[in-house]
Amino acid sequence: MPSAAKPATAATTAANQAVLAELPFYDTADFAEAWRGHVAPLPDGVVRGKAGRLVWDLGEYRFLETEQAPPEVNPSLWRLARLNMANGLFEVCPGVYQIRGLDLANMTIVEGERGVIVIDALTNAEAAATGLALYRAHRGERPVSALIYTHSHADHFGGAFGVASLDEVRAGRVPVIAPDGFMEELGAESVLAGIPMARRANFQFGGALHRGVRGQVDAGLGKRMGLAVSTLLPPTDLIVEPVESRTIDGVELVFQMAPQTEAPAEMHIWLPKQRVLNMAENTTRHLHNFIPLRGAQARDTRVWSNAITTSMALFGDQAEILVAQHHWPIWGREKLLGYLGRQRDLYKHIHDQALRLAARGLRPAEIAERLRLPDSLAQDWACRGYYGTVSHNAKAVYQRYLSWYDGNPANLDPLPPAEAARKLVEYLGPLDAVMARARDDFARGEYRWVVQLMNQLVFADPDNAAARELCADAHEQLGYQAESATWRNAYLLAAQELRGGISGSRAVGFLRPDMLPALSTEVVFDWLGVRLKAEQAAGLHWRIDWHFTDRGEIVAQNLENATLTQRLGTGSAAADARVTTTRAAFDRLVAGGVGFDVLLAEGAATVAGDATLPAKLFALLDVFETIFPVVTPR
Ligand SMILES: [Zn+2]
Repeated sequence: MPSAAKPATAATTAANQAVLAELPFYDTADFAEAWRGHVAPLPDGVVRGKAGRLVWDLGEYRFLETEQAPPEVNPSLWRLARLNMANGLFEVCPGVYQIRGLDLANMTIVEGERGVIVIDALTNAEAAATGLALYRAHRGERPVSALIYTHSHADHFGGAFGVASLDEVRAGRVPVIAPDGFMEELGAESVLAGIPMARRANFQFGGALHRGVRGQVDAGLGKRMGLAVSTLLPPTDLIVEPVESRTIDGVELVFQMAPQTEAPAEMHIWLPKQRVLNMAENTTRHLHNFIPLRGAQARDTRVWSNAITTSMALFGDQAEILVAQHHWPIWGREKLLGYLGRQRDLYKHIHDQALRLAARGLRPAEIAERLRLPDSLAQDWACRGYYGTVSHNAKAVYQRYLSWYDGNPANLDPLPPAEAARKLVEYLGPLDAVMARARDDFARGEYRWVVQLMNQLVFADPDNAAARELCADAHEQLGYQAESATWRNAYLLAAQELRGGISGSRAVGFLRPDMLPALSTEVVFDWLGVRLKAEQAAGLHWRIDWHFTDRGEIVAQNLENATLTQRLGTGSAAADARVTTTRAAFDRLVAGGVGFDVLLAEGAATVAGDATLPAKLFALLDVFETIFPVVTPR
């Protein structure tokens, strides 16, 4: 989108300048490590999809070639944004390679006797296939002997079809290995709340922003999300025990389960022969998210920290190299143990101190304001808040233990945002005077307050152009000052949408028809429950038994009290309708575009009992827009 972006103010320029004195910019070791073992760059800096469509283009980030940060970017973030430009094929050590900078995450490739073990498949098949091709161009045409998912986030499995085909997996030629609970957690995290999560992810990753010094420069974990869809090859082999070993293609791998950490289903991988420890996404070169801005269930950072402790205890006396599925490796035992210790303490420190401050009676916003890392952590580049921040992570700890509610009954049942804003504006009196004072505050650099107040004016009256503009301007300066890439993206997209509306935004896809078969029947039925238009279902009561012959599953579905529930296993004796079909056919109904009558006509379904009920059920299901207003009232 063409930018109406404004330059940094004097206050922002000064704030960003001050960062240069606060952090150890003289320490440039990361730049050497980020490029160490570089074999070849991503050819032309691009990943292309079908018909040459651009999926990934590092050329958009050419402006990062300048070493000195412009006034519109926090110098610490600028530094990371430059580090995340390292791209292509890297040799970690003989027999272990990484593909980096082709997508948000890394692909790790371990050479076996016959072929290669691929650890994580990036976000889309185009990136994964491009990465593997780059590897093969330099290391020969080795087949894939196994695919491993370290955890249940899309940037680690979404490109599976670029690594292996469904036929290869079905024939048992390529096992797909994942931590126990992988499919369940995938469904819970990214399907049931998928729509609002996708919209909020726009703000986290800033995909709708232009790339540039006044736009998106990075996403913390990597540059951005690739512009192609995620799909899924379901795992064929789950790691269940706390520590499990497998020998695959002559390579010994030791899996350490780390559930309920950065992802609900996650594991670390130890390669004893190569002495390489893969920490998946539990230690990356920054402070990660306790809750990402896109939204998720609050993560248990006590458990997360413990998983790092366990890795140190199990493998710390032998590990020589540490890799992760984002960012670059660490070579040398002493160095990697120091790093692991600081990461362990980073997560535990915020966890413990947030609860300590809560015990002293501080509320979430007060805890976030007060909590500061000790210098021994704060001066470590790998503890800086490029993705998570101390501020929102401290609030996430509060939420995990004590909920969204700060305990003050004044905040128990406030008026909803637009209503409260209208009352406030009514009390404020003439807005000219309010705007004049807000502009003074803006001139003084008090952007947080200006955003807070202008947001009220916008919610009271979204057509108040002056309030929208000042709100956008203040968001923008906050974005320029933010060290966190995700905060910067959020602020700058807010400014963009306040100025130009939300046409430039696009929610990323989430429940794609081709992902449906990989989801459990339980999750798919829960998704129908989320879609039920309760107002229209009031007073209805019926039971439908669904018999899926291709999976040998029977689902007894109950509609009652404007609520859908189901029980898998046996049908209901009192069913009003019994449908015999396949999950494959049912998935077409769920994906939309095909009515139940079509399945009947095709002979893909039969019904006993009240044959009108399946169509009535699907007529009761909501269809969502993937774009809704965020910075203006609904
Ligand atoms: Zn990731």
